[in-house]
Amino acid sequence: MINVLTGRSHSPGMSRDFIKNYTVAELEEFFLSIGEKRYRSRQLFNWMYERNIDSFDLMTDFSKELRRNLQEKFILMPLVLSERLISGIDGTEKFLFKTMDGHYIESVLIKNDGSDDGRLTVCISSQAGCAMGCLFCETAKQGFHRNLETAEILEQLCQVRRLTCVRNNNVVFMGMGEPFMNYENVLKSADIMNYSFGFHISVRKITISTSGITSAIERFIDEKRPYNLAISLNDTEPEKRIKNMPVEKKFPFQRIASMLGKKFPASRNRLTIEYVMRKDNISENDAKRLKNIFRYSRIKLNLITLNTGSHNFEIPGQEEIDSFIRMLEIMNVPITVRNSFGQDISGACGQLSGRMKNYSSD
Ligand code: SAH
Ligand code: SF4
Repeated sequence: MINVLTGRSHSPGMSRDFIKNYTVAELEEFFLSIGEKRYRSRQLFNWMYERNIDSFDLMTDFSKELRRNLQEKFILMPLVLSERLISGIDGTEKFLFKTMDGHYIESVLIKNDGSDDGRLTVCISSQAGCAMGCLFCETAKQGFHRNLETAEILEQLCQVRRLTCVRNNNVVFMGMGEPFMNYENVLKSADIMNYSFGFHISVRKITISTSGITSAIERFIDEKRPYNLAISLNDTEPEKRIKNMPVEKKFPFQRIASMLGKKFPASRNRLTIEYVMRKDNISENDAKRLKNIFRYSRIKLNLITLNTGSHNFEIPGQEEIDSFIRMLEIMNVPITVRNSFGQDISGACGQLSGRMKNYSSD
């Protein structure tokens, strides 16, 4: 593991690093190495995630000496809040956080998404910027800075929960960045979110969204990772998809589809294909091509309307959207339509842009 502050590889406690980078087993080793009991690790997880404290000093069942030791060796909070915006339309909240080396990342809390199960969703970022270059996406405009550490991914949840007093029960990796270009840290953070002595978020309530990194999707299925998977398709014609989502060049969707054809039926994952509706990708032929893709059972198509941004695409009108939905329904394609939240604070998918333009350290 590389420490973002020192650039050195290390194990827990070797230099002052992010304590939230570590699993419970890794911290058990650490506690044993300093002559403490193994169970301290679970206690620490309870303080960090369940009670979500913001200082080692508050860990009152640890001795003063142990607290000082942790304080000397570790950083508890790797992000600082820079800006918080609340939507006047639907209460969606957007948070701009600054990393310790000066990058800005965003997270969004969606409080009332109209679902029956009282979902409280936090949309989190996996990278500072994104290298994938999708033409319709605001994050793409800032280019790629670096992968987020596991601690920086988890800290978004800690801070959103602490700032809002909302205990979210749903997490989507749909903020800034391509989660599968940061596979290790993203999966490690998802595993930690699921611990019963931490956030205890159910594996079925954690969704990782990818633009389609075939090798990583295959690894995810082979490793039997239990989380939901969402793949952003957004075009049904390869030539068009290559232009709008350059990832298509190296990882053609057709290859993902045939891999899924072989592996997905046996996997237990829930799979969603995301489709951002633009004026130019919702024709009858698009609907027919989608029908062909959805011959696998248990896959849902999630339709999202293109959000405004600095792209050159046209947003379709309601009538065009309704007619596309009708075509898909007639063809029995299983669809869900995602509402766009926080429009007045640019809090929706693809609108997270890290508006602070100074990305260098200061
Ligand atoms: N990189 C991952 C996850 C982050 S993007 C991915 O691409 O899947 C999350 C979702 O936002 C993706 O489905 C993406 O297609 C969508 N998106 C990007 N720009 C958008 C825009 N302008 N309007 C609506 N959705 C957008
Ligand atoms: Fe990156 Fe996803 Fe945006 Fe494409 S849509 S640029 S993969 S964040």
